[in-house]
Amino acid sequence: MRPRSKGHGLADVSSARVLEAVRGRALVWPIGAVEQHGPHLPLSVDAVLAEAFARQIAYELDGLTLPVQSIAARSLPQSGGGLAFPGTVYVNGDSLIGFLRDAASSLVDLPFARLIVVNGHFENEPFIFEALDTVGRKLGAGGPEIIAFSWWSLVETDWLRDEVADFPGWHAEHAGLTETSLMLYLRPELVSDARPEHDHPPRGGIFLHPADVTRTTNQGVLSSTAGSSAELGEKLFWHVVDQAVSLVRRGDGLRRGDGPRRAGAESPTGGE
Ligand SMILES: [Zn+2]
Repeated sequence: MRPRSKGHGLADVSSARVLEAVRGRALVWPIGAVEQHGPHLPLSVDAVLAEAFARQIAYELDGLTLPVQSIAARSLPQSGGGLAFPGTVYVNGDSLIGFLRDAASSLVDLPFARLIVVNGHFENEPFIFEALDTVGRKLGAGGPEIIAFSWWSLVETDWLRDEVADFPGWHAEHAGLTETSLMLYLRPELVSDARPEHDHPPRGGIFLHPADVTRTTNQGVLSSTAGSSAELGEKLFWHVVDQAVSLVRRGDGLRRGDGPRRAGAESPTGGE
C-alpha cells in the first residue's frame, strides 16, 4: 500500500516566506462542488476527491496546494442528478468564470512555475477552461504554465476496460462505481451501506426539461454502484496520480498514448 500525503498548503505559509516557498514550484488547485451524490455518499464527494488528488499530486511534484474551492457550478440532470435533489450549493456559470479568472489572475504575482487545476465536478469543466484560457492569453508565452484537467480525463481506456464492466460514460459515473470506490478508499466513514443501482444511465450531451429524475437516476445515482470497493478506489486513485505526474513531468502527456504505460524516455525538458 502506497502511503498518501497531505502535502503542504500555500495558505499555511507566512507572507514573509511565501515567495521563497513557491518559487519555481507547482501550485495545485483543487476545485470540487457541494452536490448531491445519492443516499450513500455525502455532498462533499467532488471536493473530497479533487482535494485528495491535488494533495498527492502536489506532494509527488514537490509543489504546494491551494485551498479546495468547494462551491462551483450547478448540478445538471443528465450528469449530476440536477437541482431536484436538495443540497447542491452553487454559483451560475458566469459567476464561476469570473471568480476563477480573478483568483487565478491574483495568483500570478507569485513566482510559481506552473498552476495545476484538478477538477472533481463534471459541470465545472468548461467554466474552468474558459477562465484559465482568459488568464493564459493575457499572460502570453512568457507566463507560468497552466494545466487543468478533470481527474477522470486521466483514466486510460485500457485501465477502464480492465477494471470497470459496462462503463456508462463519465457523465453518468455520478455517485456510481468509481466515485463510491474512491470514497471507500479515501473517506470510508462518510459512506453508508446503501448501494443503489440504476440500469439505464442517461445519455451524455443532452439537456432535458422537465427532467424526470425517477427515470434519469435512482435516488440521485446515475449508474451502478455494484462492485464498489476500497481496493478499486485505491487502484484508481494511484492510477490518476501517476497519470497526472507523468503528464506534468513529460510535458507532452496531452496526446493520447503518452501515458506511463507507453512511456519511453523522459522528456528532454525534464521534470520537477
Ligand atoms: Zn461527483
